[in-house]
Amino acid sequence: MSDPILSVHHLSIDYGYEEDATHAVTDVSFTLGRGEFLGLAGESGCGKSTLAYGVANILRNPANIVSGEILYHGGNAAPINILALSGAALRAFRWNELAIVFQSAMNALNPVLSLRAQIRDIFTTHRPQMSRKEIDQRAVELLQMVGIASDRLRSFPHELSGGMRQRAGIALALALNPDIIIMDEPTTALDVVAQREILSEMIRLRQNLQFSVIFITHDLSLLLELADNVAIMYAGRIVEYGDRRNVYAHARHPYSYGLLHSFPPLRGPAKKVYGIAGSPPDLRALPQGCAFHPRCPMAFADCQSALPILKAADPAIPAQHAACHLYDAARRAEPPTEEDIAAAYSVNAKRRGMRV
Ligand code: SF4
Repeated sequence: MSDPILSVHHLSIDYGYEEDATHAVTDVSFTLGRGEFLGLAGESGCGKSTLAYGVANILRNPANIVSGEILYHGGNAAPINILALSGAALRAFRWNELAIVFQSAMNALNPVLSLRAQIRDIFTTHRPQMSRKEIDQRAVELLQMVGIASDRLRSFPHELSGGMRQRAGIALALALNPDIIIMDEPTTALDVVAQREILSEMIRLRQNLQFSVIFITHDLSLLLELADNVAIMYAGRIVEYGDRRNVYAHARHPYSYGLLHSFPPLRGPAKKVYGIAGSPPDLRALPQGCAFHPRCPMAFADCQSALPILKAADPAIPAQHAACHLYDAARRAEPPTEEDIAAAYSVNAKRRGMRV
């Protein structure tokens, strides 16, 4: 991996307190490299957005960070603990070093201000030394960067299409050249053509500007195309992490395998589609042991009592980690082959009446 720009250590985030707490994120650690594109995937409610908003330190009550540390490694100075920032330091950090593109641009943009006014707002707050003329020149540049004609600076959000609004959100995020951009399902509400255009734009911008991206989606197929590394989340934890090519070709965790076999490939040979039985667990009352065990076709006795730890599943690919007892030599003599996992999913799917 390139130099780290961000490192997250043992982050846990709850909604609510004590026995009423919903454990949205539990003991999550990862490192984001400089210029890296990290994809966070998993079903709705698995903690992806809470994790990302925790990283940006924008969570509000009743969300509370129970434990952990988030270090930003910018420049030559000592790392900054993002969770220790507050007030003006936190506000400055958010736009200058880390920016967010939210899921629904209509809600993220101010409906009563033109694009020009919203861009001016950022610069007058964060770059008070810039003249009005310089700000307006930069506003034109930013819109051009994301493929919007400069005459749209006068437009209000409701005058733009969904794709344009999302592009405008990206332009605002890029305004101060941050090192990290968090994108929370930025294309979910768009049609596939607009989605493709925006993602192509993001790839081009990242190549030119060299920022790092944390990209959140429930659409794993998107990440297999875009990301350098992929983290799969389930019930608030990262259950598999690795290079997207390795995760695609050799998913180790049965949940990742199930996700990858829940949609047909657009290219290449056909593959069997199984789906994953059941629903994600209630985060207020997680199952004992591995939270995936009630849905896992490979579950065995240990899975109901012991929590699996995220670690290398295959010595040949040490950077790919999975949290699964199947790869713990003390619990299972031989790790499963992909055929074993496929066979278990196939039996499970047939039991549910699916044709596979
Ligand atoms: Fe399945 Fe057990 Fe692995 Fe969890 S630990 S994914 S239940 S085999």
